[in-house]
Order: sequence, then C-alpha cells, then structure tokens
Amino acid sequence: MTENLERLNGRLAQIKRLGEVSELLGWDQQTYMPEGAAAARGEHSAALSRLIHDMFVDGETARLLSAAEAETAGADPDSDDVRLLAAVRRDYDRETRLPADLVSEISRHQAISHNVWVRARQENDFAGFAPSLEKMLDLTRRRAECLGYEAHIYDALLDAYEPSMRQADVARMFADIKPALVKLIADIAASVRPVDASLLHRGYPVEAQRKVTLDLAARFGFDFNRGRQDEAAHPFCSSFSRDDVRLTTRFDPAYLGQALYATLHETGHGLYEQGITAQYDPTWLGSAASLGVHESQSRLWENLVGRSRAYCEYAFPKLQAAFPDALGGETSEAFYRAVNLVRPSLVRVEADEVTYNLHIMLRFELECELLTGALAVRDLPETWNARMQAYFGIAPASDTEGVLQDVHWAEGLIGYFPTYALGNLISGQLWHAIRAQMPDIEASVRAGEFAALLEWLRANVHRYGRKYPPAELIYKATGEPLTSRYYLEYLTTKYADIYGLG
Ligand code: ZN
Repeated sequence: MTENLERLNGRLAQIKRLGEVSELLGWDQQTYMPEGAAAARGEHSAALSRLIHDMFVDGETARLLSAAEAETAGADPDSDDVRLLAAVRRDYDRETRLPADLVSEISRHQAISHNVWVRARQENDFAGFAPSLEKMLDLTRRRAECLGYEAHIYDALLDAYEPSMRQADVARMFADIKPALVKLIADIAASVRPVDASLLHRGYPVEAQRKVTLDLAARFGFDFNRGRQDEAAHPFCSSFSRDDVRLTTRFDPAYLGQALYATLHETGHGLYEQGITAQYDPTWLGSAASLGVHESQSRLWENLVGRSRAYCEYAFPKLQAAFPDALGGETSEAFYRAVNLVRPSLVRVEADEVTYNLHIMLRFELECELLTGALAVRDLPETWNARMQAYFGIAPASDTEGVLQDVHWAEGLIGYFPTYALGNLISGQLWHAIRAQMPDIEASVRAGEFAALLEWLRANVHRYGRKYPPAELIYKATGEPLTSRYYLEYLTTKYADIYGLG
C-alpha cells in the first residue's frame, strides 16, 4: 500500500545522510581544519550542496512525493507518515519556487558582501558597505516574492527558520514586552544594590575548566558515548545524527563565564539532538522543529537552570574545588549574583538575559523597515544609534560597534534574528509548565538531579523532532499558544530580587 512512501523515504534518507556529511565538514572547518585548507573545503562543501539540492528537486522526488500523498490520503492526520509528507512538501515547494539563476546570484553576492562587510567593519566604513547591503536587500525582496506570502514580505523569510510564524506574531509579542524591558533596564541601572562580577575574572586554569565543564555537561544528561566536546572560536553544536552530536566551547584563562555558560548552552542544543526519537533517524522528521525551538532548549539549560540560585548552590562547591585559588573565599550567593550581572552593552553576543531581547527587537524592527522601504539604507546608522540610546541608554561611538557588528545582513540572513528571542520566550513558557507539573524541580536542581527534567523535555519536545510545527509543539507541551508573558514574569521577578527593586 505504501510502496511509494517507502521509496521516497529511501531517497530522502540518502539526501539526509549527505547533509550530515556536509555538517561534519563544517564542524571540522571550525575546529581542527588547517587554515590553508579553506579553499579546498569550500569546494567540498559546494560540491555536496549541489548534489543534495539536485537530488532533492529532481523530478523523481516530486513524483514519489505526489504518489505517497495519494497513498496516504485517508490516513490519520496525526500519523508520522502524514506529518512527514507535510514536512517534505513544505521543503520541496520552498526549494523549487526559487529560480536557479536567482539562487546562484544570491550565493555569489553572499560571498562578495561578506568580504565587503569584513573590511567595512574593520575600517568603520558603513558607506563602503551600503551598496552591498542595498543589493542584498534587493535580492532578498526578489527571493521573498518568489517564495510568496500573504500579509507581510517578512513572512516569506521568517518562515524558513520558524515555520508557521508570522511577522505580525513576532511584532505583537515584542510590543508586549518592550516597555517593561526598557523600564527594567533603567531600574537596574539605578539600583542601589549593584552586582559585583569580579570573581569571574580571575585566574582559571584551562585544564581544570575543561574537566569541570565536561562533568557539568554529563551531569545534565549529555551522552558522551554519542557525542563529544571540542574547542571553537565561536561555540556551536553540530549533529551528524542523533548518535553523533558535537558540542564546542571556548576557554578564557582569565574569565570563567565564557566556557562555563557556552558549555551549558551548547549542551542544551546537544540534548535536543540526542533526544529525537530513534525511529526518525534518518527520516525527514529526524531534526529539530525550528531554530527558535532549538534555542529554547539551549536557553533553558543555560539560563532557567544554569543561572538559577538552586543551580549555583549545586555547582558552586564543584567549581570551588576545581578553582581553589579563585573561588576559595567566595560563596554560592556571590557566585549567583555574579553570573546574573545586567549591564547594557553595545554588542549583542555579550548581552545578558535582560538586555538580550532588546538587541533582537532592534534588529527585527530595522530589518522589517529596510525590507518595506520605510527605512533607507543610508539612514540606517543614525536610526540604529538613536534606538540604542532610547532602549539601552547608550549609543555606539562607531558603526563598527554599532550597525556593522553582526554578519547576518551581509550574508542575507534576514528573518533569522527573531529566532534568538523566540528561543528565550519559549524557554520561559516551557519552564512555567515544568514548574506547574514538577513542583519540586528547584530542589532537584539544587541536588544536581536533572533526570526528571530531561525526561520531561524528551517526552514533550525532543522526541517529536520536526513532526509538529513550532506553534503546535508549544501548544501541546504547555497547553497554551506561544506567549511572552512567562518569560517577562521570570525576568522581572528574578532581577527585582537580585537588584533589590521595589
Ligand atoms: Zn544557541
């Protein structure tokens, strides 16, 4: 009965495996590859990408997909088969709506624009980058028109990273929390109980950092028999199947916060990848639901767990034993306060929990306005600086530390930024549901017991892979549509306590 579905799955499994090989090449490039191999590696990756694309958009895929859809026409709409075909159909339609010449024009311009951006950023030369950005926006608008959308041109782009999410949803959630965040940041800046984070900036021998971070990742439940941790300049997590998940971190011998929280963050990503149900491997359902859902897992372990008072009470004695010179005379409460320092900064990647979302909102607003033409590229730096001043109370002295800081726009990754903030919002909503269902969760965290928490995430999020689009997955897991309410409540309660706010 389902002969075509089986043949389709066989074809997709091959494509998926090639994609995993491509991931492996990317991981190697950022960890161990010698610099001189960059050009050859570029060729390897491009050859694989072409092969994967050609196999996927081939007429045989289309024929098997249509035939399998017909075979499963009367099946349970919630069955894996029907959901899998919906995911394949979505990807197939997106991939084939773009004309080949537009795709190659975009990838050509990406390479050029990236180099122009690197130079412009080094030399603080926004004017030198502006024509490249204009062209990228133009190509992006053409791409969005080919992909199609109903309400807002941004919908077509956001959909690539966050299926079923719309510009209006994101705008509404951000509008709900922006005034409260701006006020919280101002209140914290005026607090009479400032946080002293100097204990994190002492001598922390790298070997001891390596040992303790591996230990903490294992304690969360990361399976080192199906993964490992290496070093990379910009930490990330990569998966070549649920049985081979690679974490990376970065060690700074004079700052503990870097490796510690990069590890907890990437471990959250890694636990998700390891937890996708085995029978989805290597099917089209065997990957994450979206970037936002992925980020919700990293943020949950890094922040909701890792920056909680309970977790600090658990981890601090271990850290104290690993770094007696740096932490010998400190307390877990001092450590808790230090890892929760809030300080408006110009740079997104250095931002704390409270200010991070505002960095994203700024970028989201600006990219929407650039796309629709409401904001001209030449006015971008001035607008950027004015809004930094309004939201954070600080403004960059140069475009290098302002509008030129992120690589995303130069590479045409427009519609990507909101997924970082969505990850935070989703993590807050999941945590709210977890606390309601597991009233002793704090005591478990304090005792270093994470098995029940991981089991909840496995059962409600991880195992489904991409069977459900994000909105449906979140509703199933929490009983509510996505809302920014719980994340905002979490932030205001926690930081009112730390900073002694009325
Ligand atoms: Zn992440």
